[in-house]
Amino acid sequence: MTIPQQDQTRAEDTREHTAETTFPPSPEFIADAIADSGLHDAASADRVAFWAEQSRALLEWRTPFTSTLDWSDAPFARWFADGELNVAENCLDRHVRAGNGDRVAIHFEGANGDTRTITYAQLTADVQRAANMLAGLGVGQGDRVVVYLPLIPEAVVTMLAIARLGAIHSVVFGGFSAESLRARIEDAGAKVVVTADGGWRRGAVSPLKPAVDEALQGEGTESVEHVLVVQRGGNDVAWTERDRWWHDEFAAAEPEHEAQAFPAETPLFILYTSGTTGKPKGIVHTSGGYLTQAAYTHKNVFDMHPEKDVYWCTADIGWITGHTYVVYGPLANGVTQVLYEGTPDEPQPGRWWDLVDSYGVTVLYTAPTAVRAAMKAGRQIPEARSLESLRLLGSVGEPINPEAWQWYRQVIGHDRTPIVDTWWQTETGGIMISALPGVTKLKPGAAQTPLPGIVAEIVDDDGHRVDPGGSGYLTITEPWPAMARGIWGDPDRFVETYWSRFPGRYFAGDGARLDGEGDIWVQGRVDDVMNVSGHRLSTAEIESALVGHEGVAEAAVVGAADETTGQAVVAFVILTTEASEGVDRVSAATELRNWVGKRIGAIAKPRQVVIVPELPKTRSGKIMRRLLRDAAEGRRIGDTTTLADPTIMATIAELM
Ligand code: ATP
Ligand code: MG
Repeated sequence: MTIPQQDQTRAEDTREHTAETTFPPSPEFIADAIADSGLHDAASADRVAFWAEQSRALLEWRTPFTSTLDWSDAPFARWFADGELNVAENCLDRHVRAGNGDRVAIHFEGANGDTRTITYAQLTADVQRAANMLAGLGVGQGDRVVVYLPLIPEAVVTMLAIARLGAIHSVVFGGFSAESLRARIEDAGAKVVVTADGGWRRGAVSPLKPAVDEALQGEGTESVEHVLVVQRGGNDVAWTERDRWWHDEFAAAEPEHEAQAFPAETPLFILYTSGTTGKPKGIVHTSGGYLTQAAYTHKNVFDMHPEKDVYWCTADIGWITGHTYVVYGPLANGVTQVLYEGTPDEPQPGRWWDLVDSYGVTVLYTAPTAVRAAMKAGRQIPEARSLESLRLLGSVGEPINPEAWQWYRQVIGHDRTPIVDTWWQTETGGIMISALPGVTKLKPGAAQTPLPGIVAEIVDDDGHRVDPGGSGYLTITEPWPAMARGIWGDPDRFVETYWSRFPGRYFAGDGARLDGEGDIWVQGRVDDVMNVSGHRLSTAEIESALVGHEGVAEAAVVGAADETTGQAVVAFVILTTEASEGVDRVSAATELRNWVGKRIGAIAKPRQVVIVPELPKTRSGKIMRRLLRDAAEGRRIGDTTTLADPTIMATIAELM
C-alpha cells in the first residue's frame, strides 16, 4: 500500500484548534501565587546574578559562595564553587531549627494500606541515625552507595543519609533485573548496597534481595563490602556474611549526627537515564547548583505554600523525577507530601483519587501515561470522588496530548486547576521549560516557556534559530545550575552525546516547534520524527490525533522504511475498554486511518494501524518507539532490558 500524495492543507493541522483553547490564570490564583512576572524580568536583567540570588534565598550556605558560575571548562560547569553546604541539613535540620519540626514531611501510605506520618523532626532524627549507621559500615565522602528499594520512607532516609555524609547515591529502580543492577553496581564501584527483603505489589511480595544476591555473584561487583537490608516484605531471604539488617544496625547506631559542610561541587548522585533511546547513561549531579534549581523550580512551578499545601508527586525514586520532586525539591522547601508505594488501581480502581481525598492533596504531579490510563478506565471512577482539594496539576515524562490535557483539567481538576506541563530530563536535573502558574496563559499540549534563568532555542539542521512557526531541535544555550556535570567515568561521552551536534549548545535529542506567540511545543525525540515523502511529521502530533478519537485509549506512532515514500507512518493503538468490545479490527483500522487523514491531512494517514492490547513501555512509563520501529520494519527487536513487560513485543510482532 502506498501513501496518497501530500495534502497541502496539513499545515493547518490540530495546532490551530488547540492554540485557540487557552486558559489565562484566574484572579483567585494570581492573588495568592508565588511566581510573578518579576521573575522573568530579574532573570533577563542578569541571569547569573539571578541564580545567585535564588540560591541565597532558598538554601542555607555554611560558607557563602563568592563565585556564581565558572564556565571556563565548558561544558563542565561549576556553580557556587567556593561555597559550602550540607544538602541533608538544608532538607531537614534547618526546618526544625526554624520551628517547623512538627510539620508533616511525609504522609506514607503502603500498597497494603499501612500508613506512617513522619514529621520533619522525626525525619531529621531518622536521617541522623541512618548517617551514623552508614558511616559505621564504612561509607564516607565520595563513596558510592547503590539504593535498590521500594518506594518506602527508608528510601528517602537512605538517600538523605548518604547526602549528609558527602557520599554519592545511585538509585536503581526496584523493578530492574539482577543484571541491570549488577551493571550499575559495577559502573559506580559501589561500596554498599541498600535494599529490602521485598516490596509489596498488588497484594503480593515482590522480592528484591534475591536480585542483589544474584547481582553480587556477577562480575565486577567486588567493591561491595556490605548489603543493608530493610525488612519490608517479610519474605525469606538468603543471608551471607556481608549482609546486615537495617533494623539491627539502625537501633545500634548513635542518634545524633553533626552534618559537615561540603563544597558545592561535591557529587550528590549518579542516576541512569530511562533507556528510552538506547543504553542508559550514568548522569552525575552535584550539590549546590542541583539543590538550588530543585528548590527554585519546585517552589515556583508548583506554587508551593509550605504552610498549607499537601503535595504529591507520583514518581518512583528510581527516576530523576523522584529525586528532584519527591526528595530534594519538596524537602528543601519544607513541604508536606504524600508518598505512596503502590499502583494507581490497587486494590480498587481509583485508589489514587482516594488518596487525594484522604490526604487533601492540593498539588498533583504525574505523567501523561497515568492520565491516559485513567482516561481509559473511565471518568466515572474519579467522578465518584471529591477531588475538591486539588488546585494545581503537573505533567512530566512525555508530551501530553491536548486531549489528555483537557481531560486531566476537566475530570481531575474540575475545570478549575491550572496544569503545568514540565519539560526536562535526567541530564538537566530540574524543570527547564514550563508554564508558571499565576503568570502564564496555558495552552493544552505545550510546554510553553523556558523558566526564568533558562535560555532555550529551537534551531534548524545548521544550528540557526528558527522563526516563530518553525520547528527543529530543542537546545539550551546557557549553562544552568542543575545541569549534569558529566557521565560517570566517561567525560568524553558527555561531550560527544550532548555538546557536539551543535557546538556551544546543549542538545539532548528532542525536537520542538515554536508557535506564533513564541511558545514551545515539544514534539518528542528527534529519532522519532518521521520523514514521509519529504515531509517531517512528528509522532506526537499523529498520536495526539489518534487519541482524539473517542475509541482510542492510547497510541504510538513510528516511521517505518517504505520503498515509495522513504518512511511510512505505522500506528499502534490501544482501544478503550468500551470500543474494544466485539470490535472488527479491519474496519476499526480503516476508520482510524481516515480519522488521521481528516484531522491532519492525507500525508499523515498511517500505512498501517495495528490494534494492540498494550504498548512497550519503559519502567518509567514511556513508550519505546524504537522497539515498535523494529517490529514495523520486521527486524529483530533491540535492547529490551528497561522494558516493564518484556513479553509484550512478542505479542505485538504476532499482530503485525
Ligand atoms: P534515554 O535518555 O536513556 O533514552 P529518557 O530520555 O527517556 O532515556 P529521561 O531523562 O527520564 O530519560 O527522560 C527525558 C525525556 O523525556 C526528554 O528528553 C523528553 O523526550 C521526555 N520528556 C520529559 N518531559 C517532557 C514533556 N513535558 N514534554 C515532552 N517530552 C518530555
Ligand atoms: Mg534522554
